[in-house]
Amino acid sequence: DRADVVVIGAGPAGLTVANVLRAAGVDCLVLEAESREFVERRPRAGFVEEWAVRALGRHGLAERLLERAETQGEFEFRVDGARHAVRTARLSGRRHFVYPQPLLVGDLLAAYADRAGGAVRFEVQDVRLHDLDGPRAAVSYRDPHTGERHRITCDHVVGADGARGVSRAAIPDGQVRMTRHDHGVAWLAVLAEAPPSADGVVFGIHPRGFGAHMARSAHVTRYYLEVPAADAAADWPDERVWRELRVRLAADGARPLREGPLSEKTVLAMHNYVVEPMAYGRLHLAGDAAHLLAPVAAKGMNLAINDALLLGAALIAHYKGDDRPLAGYSAAALRRVWQYLEFSQWLSEVLHGASSGDRFRAGTAAARLRRLLGSEAAAKAFAGLYLGEEADL
Ligand code: FAD
Repeated sequence: DRADVVVIGAGPAGLTVANVLRAAGVDCLVLEAESREFVERRPRAGFVEEWAVRALGRHGLAERLLERAETQGEFEFRVDGARHAVRTARLSGRRHFVYPQPLLVGDLLAAYADRAGGAVRFEVQDVRLHDLDGPRAAVSYRDPHTGERHRITCDHVVGADGARGVSRAAIPDGQVRMTRHDHGVAWLAVLAEAPPSADGVVFGIHPRGFGAHMARSAHVTRYYLEVPAADAAADWPDERVWRELRVRLAADGARPLREGPLSEKTVLAMHNYVVEPMAYGRLHLAGDAAHLLAPVAAKGMNLAINDALLLGAALIAHYKGDDRPLAGYSAAALRRVWQYLEFSQWLSEVLHGASSGDRFRAGTAAARLRRLLGSEAAAKAFAGLYLGEEADL
């Protein structure tokens, strides 16, 4: 078998690249470890920034999103029993689109596989990358039904297989640098089968730990609770989760929380990493395979889309005879990655300072928040980064 480009991973990054390449007539094959049903249901991210929606739209990939997504233009901090609205749309002129990740993945799969007839192989096992520094690369996998190994030779491999994939690990030691930063806390992420209890996002800053509310749909609400890094989901029975959320999200005039069964409970370590450069030989990394951001600022899926659009354009240029965009791909993608990491770290301190047990961190975090809530200029700068800029900074 042969393809121009093999894409490993059918998440937002891999499927966006595949769509862009397919539309330009570049032959590609997507390999995915899970089933189609699984990737179209896996709950994760929920916010897409307006520039990303527009960029997907330019490739004809945002039609369903624009039809179905709600938009949000403000959120609320709750601190010391008071509510403070931050009107992000008024401050930045842009909005967040609330669109669960599985819906976006479903749309991207429908566009690529069903409408454009692009090739995807699901449930592939034991994916391996070969000859990344040779004149031709190859990817092999085991067929789940026959147990046979298949090998596909290709010009380029897109490693879009997320944080736990195999692509990054195929890079020989010493060829890329991995930088890590750990916030030292974890978040318990839960999905409640209950209507939202506020219009949009609520960030509760509390000495007992951070708590958050995020409206997802009329029937489902995401909540987060800061928990000790060593905690497991089993330490948090539903009743304990609701008790803690009631305390951390309490404020004068706030609606009581509408409770319901918790359908998903995951402990997420609040850590980050970046791989530099995001490429080795014929392998180009995109999305979480190249950089993980703690979900503090809901940036991960947006970065995955940004990488994918840059990489898709660079590969198309390559097939037209211009190799400069491909050579510059990593540097171009990393510009937005570092901006979002910096913002994420800034916001993390605001959210976690009060509960850090450290007077210095609590004091500086409170000062940041006062500045954000009290100064129009500071609020504007914050909203610009929270909503993401159109162009890379
Ligand atoms: P993934 O979505 O992880 O896709 C990788 C794909 O590769 C998967 O389908 C996987 O099955 C497949 N794969 C893995 N290994 C292999 C292999 N060996 N062979 C073949 N296929 C393989 N981001 C936001 O922007 N906004 C948010 O609000 C937000 N909230 C989040 C909340 C939670 C609880 C979590 C966990 C994440 C959140 N994120 C958010 C981050 C976002 O989900 C990720 O950044 C995004 O999924 C990255 O997309 P990706 O395509 O790079 O990777």
